[in-house]
Amino acid sequence: MLDQLYRQLVVEHSKNRRNHKKLEGERIKQQHYKNPTCGDVMTLYLKLSEEKVIEVISFIGEGCSISMASASMMTELLKGISLKEASHLRQAMEKMIRSGEISTEVDLGDALALEGVHKLRARHNCALMAWQALDRALGDEPEYNK
Ligand code: ZN
Repeated sequence: MLDQLYRQLVVEHSKNRRNHKKLEGERIKQQHYKNPTCGDVMTLYLKLSEEKVIEVISFIGEGCSISMASASMMTELLKGISLKEASHLRQAMEKMIRSGEISTEVDLGDALALEGVHKLRARHNCALMAWQALDRALGDEPEYNK
């Protein structure tokens, strides 16, 4: 039952992707990412405020439903939060996908629907692609690496 609900949420996000658009303008960070295991591709767009809060976040991409749903869910989670919080969410997400462990410290929201991907080893990179792109995009931000 729960599995069914989760699956629906993944399908829904992959069909109606949130924040699926290109961002242009000044101070936009842009990160292209390709998942070699499945052929998923995406470009992540981020705009940080002076206080290093994620002001705007979006992506464009093509790929399997897991990768696109995960990217859509991620943009919803990260909008309006600090880089430090973003880093904590990324760690919680990676842990859930790699080991099946769900964090009690942060709330992954809709992305919790991807928990079952843990059992599908070949799809780990699909679920984590957007988060890897985030990691690359923010890698030079001291606040993110704290
Ligand atoms: Zn994929």
